[in-house]
Amino acid sequence: MKTAELTDVLVIGSGFGGAIPAYHLAAGGAKVLILERGPQISSAGFEQDWKHGTWTRVLDLVKGDGMTALAGNCVGGGSVHYYAVSLRAPSFTFERGGGRMWPRSIRRATLDPWYERAEESLPVTLLDWKEVSYAGGLFAAACRNAGRTCQPVPVAVDTEACVNCGWMVGGCHFGAKRSMILNYLPAAQAHGAVLRPLCEVQRLSRAQTPGYRYRAHYGAEVVEAKVVIVAAGAMATPVLLRRSAFGLGGMPGAVGRYFSGNGDLLTVTQMDEGRIADVLGLEREPGIAYQAYPIGKSITTQSLDHTDPRKPEFTRFSIQQCYNTPLTNMLAEGPSWFGVGKKQARREWRSWLGTLAMYEDDNEGVFGLLPPTGAYLKLADGLGLSPLRYRRSANSERARSLVLAELRAILEKDGLGRVMPFTEDLIGEVTAHPLASARIGDDPATSACDEGHRLRGHEGLFVTDGSAVPGALCVNPSLTISALAERAVPYIVRQLRDDGVAVTYGAPAPGGATSGRRATLELAERVISGG
Ligand SMILES: Cc1cc2nc3c(=O)[nH]c(=O)nc-3n(C[C@H](O)[C@H](O)[C@H](O)COP(=O)(O)OP(=O)(O)OC[C@H]3O[C@@H](n4cnc5c(N)ncnc54)[C@H](O)[C@@H]3O)c2cc1C
Repeated sequence: MKTAELTDVLVIGSGFGGAIPAYHLAAGGAKVLILERGPQISSAGFEQDWKHGTWTRVLDLVKGDGMTALAGNCVGGGSVHYYAVSLRAPSFTFERGGGRMWPRSIRRATLDPWYERAEESLPVTLLDWKEVSYAGGLFAAACRNAGRTCQPVPVAVDTEACVNCGWMVGGCHFGAKRSMILNYLPAAQAHGAVLRPLCEVQRLSRAQTPGYRYRAHYGAEVVEAKVVIVAAGAMATPVLLRRSAFGLGGMPGAVGRYFSGNGDLLTVTQMDEGRIADVLGLEREPGIAYQAYPIGKSITTQSLDHTDPRKPEFTRFSIQQCYNTPLTNMLAEGPSWFGVGKKQARREWRSWLGTLAMYEDDNEGVFGLLPPTGAYLKLADGLGLSPLRYRRSANSERARSLVLAELRAILEKDGLGRVMPFTEDLIGEVTAHPLASARIGDDPATSACDEGHRLRGHEGLFVTDGSAVPGALCVNPSLTISALAERAVPYIVRQLRDDGVAVTYGAPAPGGATSGRRATLELAERVISGG
């Protein structure tokens, strides 16, 4: 029989959900091993190119039935390719489903101290209007023209180091994006955590060494741990857990159900340069009104006019200006797939304005038959087939049409442009924000984990990534995933102490800042002492 490597804590995945507990537990004195399926790439290694073997090392496009998700696939996970918009979720999202979607103990106010800790650690900066891209400014001008409001977004970017190259999706070559590879992960390693790239955990089973609970199988290797933190991302965590059901003696029914695409709705609008000049009075260069779709940071402004908590569920959403790469040109639905209209639209792609809206969806996604290995059937570099099935409910359909109507009201007013949602013919809906496939909650029937991120029925097994977030947030989710992961750490510390591991809690932010921990120390102490 294979001899297992032994560790106190095994972390599966190195995105937000994995890197954050890995740092705190290593800093607290636990022996931590992080296994990551993807490669390790440093800032200098991120290439500004669309050739295979460049961005495909960083990001996977994972096609399900009815929905396609983008998922992180390297050390740092989605924090490497993300656009770094770092927003707290609006308070009403925590009250969804009559207040029963989230655990009763977690509301916006109770999560605020943990948001603060994550914001300090990344850290997050609110963009100045001077740092907003031309596209972001155009969206703001169109909002004002339509009687709407618009504001810059907060980002986890060092704006001094950022050169506005527009290549955020391939990984930041300039070290300006504050992804996990620049903060939590190196800090975890500095405290002795071991990070092993190119190691994909296939399944978990029971440990055979006394004092250890779980055995993880990857490649030809096995490791045994007292505590396992599953943070493989919302497209991979439910698959890994369900494949482990046999070895672990069952799995909660909510694992692989209630998946949410965060209500993402991506569109591009073909803007009319002449109308931009005449109606909005904009001129970027002499004789050129705009033509700036690809210039600047990917997301810089947002409209929050439809985030009124008094409005009913499924009518609330936010809209952001959002640059996606020219690769997505082909997905715009306005013109047909081929022909003159399509050619014309592509020729004028510099005059496009991209948007990302996020509405309240209905957690309709379900994972079906498991692939033999990994989280999805690998078709090519950067491309996979997932067992996810997603069919929009009537609630989501209604929410989506409200968003489209609002986009048209803003961007088609006075002939400014023509809104073109992405086609769903080929790959269904597209989400950059997969969530909720092993979510936390109070009701065992609808949540895989309890409020402490403990997988039900499996002591010492925690889920801390986007799969734990209960539902759509109406904003980008990374800061909420981070705040929840920060909040989960005291529960894990308590478990480790019960297991006899001498671990402390209370490390400063990875960069050394300490003000964020002030408010959380007392909260953490209460959890750790079982109060
Ligand atoms: C183009 C794009 C832009 C985005 N921009 C923003 C933004 O501006 N703001 C925002 O809030 N969000 C943004 N997001 C979303 C954000 O990136 C994700 O919500 C976030 O990364 C999810 O974090 P996570 O910890 O749940 O999972 P991930 O960050 O995906 O981490 C999971 C990790 O686990 C690894 N893994 C998977 N399976 C295994 C296994 N079996 N064994 C070992 N390792 C495994 C994966 O390779 C990955 O590294 C964006 C996403 C995309 C695609």
